[in-house]
Amino acid sequence: MTTAEERVCEEIGALEAILMDDVVVRRVDNVPKSLETVVHPSTGDDTEQQYVCVTLEVKLTPEYPDSSPVVILKNPRGLDDCVLASIHSQIFEKLSKSLGQPVLFELIELVRENITKSNLPSGQCVICLYGFANGDAFIKTQCYHYFHNHCLASHLIAGKKYHQEEREKLPNWQQAQFPQYQQTCPVCRSVLNCDVEVLKKAPPPIDSTNEPPFHLTDKMKQLQADMAAILARQRAKGGVVGSGDSGPPPLTITTPADNNATTPSRHVQASISGQGAAKEAGARNGLPASPDDAPGSPTARPEKVPYRGFNRRGKPGRRRGPR
Ligand SMILES: [Zn+2]
Ligand SMILES: [Zn+2]
Repeated sequence: MTTAEERVCEEIGALEAILMDDVVVRRVDNVPKSLETVVHPSTGDDTEQQYVCVTLEVKLTPEYPDSSPVVILKNPRGLDDCVLASIHSQIFEKLSKSLGQPVLFELIELVRENITKSNLPSGQCVICLYGFANGDAFIKTQCYHYFHNHCLASHLIAGKKYHQEEREKLPNWQQAQFPQYQQTCPVCRSVLNCDVEVLKKAPPPIDSTNEPPFHLTDKMKQLQADMAAILARQRAKGGVVGSGDSGPPPLTITTPADNNATTPSRHVQASISGQGAAKEAGARNGLPASPDDAPGSPTARPEKVPYRGFNRRGKPGRRRGPR
């Protein structure tokens, strides 16, 4: 083993003593060639408070430390590209200043310091659409989705209330069979078991409280006018999916034949009678009928007919027509 190799062995040995199982070192003939470690933010022992992480891979050159190692950041979680780019440039600077000296531990610390500063999930809370600001109370679910505590509490309370209302619409004998309310993730529907009483104590998202009061701007008025024009155009073409429709259900099931057919009616009929059939089938199974008889409500979909796509207002003859 050369002196240079001995120095590297010494440095890596020290690193392993500190990081223990958290670092994986690949060796060839006992000489370290590369190492990999998943870097988490510094939160003491509180792993629950770690919302981001990144894997740092360092490939040592034969001349290391007299030449810079190759450093790769991979599998970032909860970190946006700006943060990663910033870490990359800091690594580059650190490497160029540290030629000839051991740098591995400092590299890991540099990454850790950066992700500790960014220990907030990037993106928005899907419930309120505000981001996560420093100081916001938010929750990481087991499915790795993030919500403000305040928002998730409102969502779960509303969900439970809706469930209760649906149950009370049923006759007594059906209520007993109605499934129990179960909290689910608003994003992926994984089962949640949150303490709503605790969550709802959290203040609203900081960004929402800093938001200036709403007022209708000229830009919004223009947007409304534009959308109204689009709506009118769609109505004229018979393609509106919306309230106040007295025609056939806007969501209908089509069959392959419809794609070629020019005579409509068949599946329009199918969807109307299918709606009734679905309700009857629901009643047979002891399931609640469609909560409202709104056209196009999900329960209005006929049973056992494979879903083949949307059709505007059950007017297939017009669907493929010229615009
Ligand atoms: Zn929110
Ligand atoms: Zn989820």
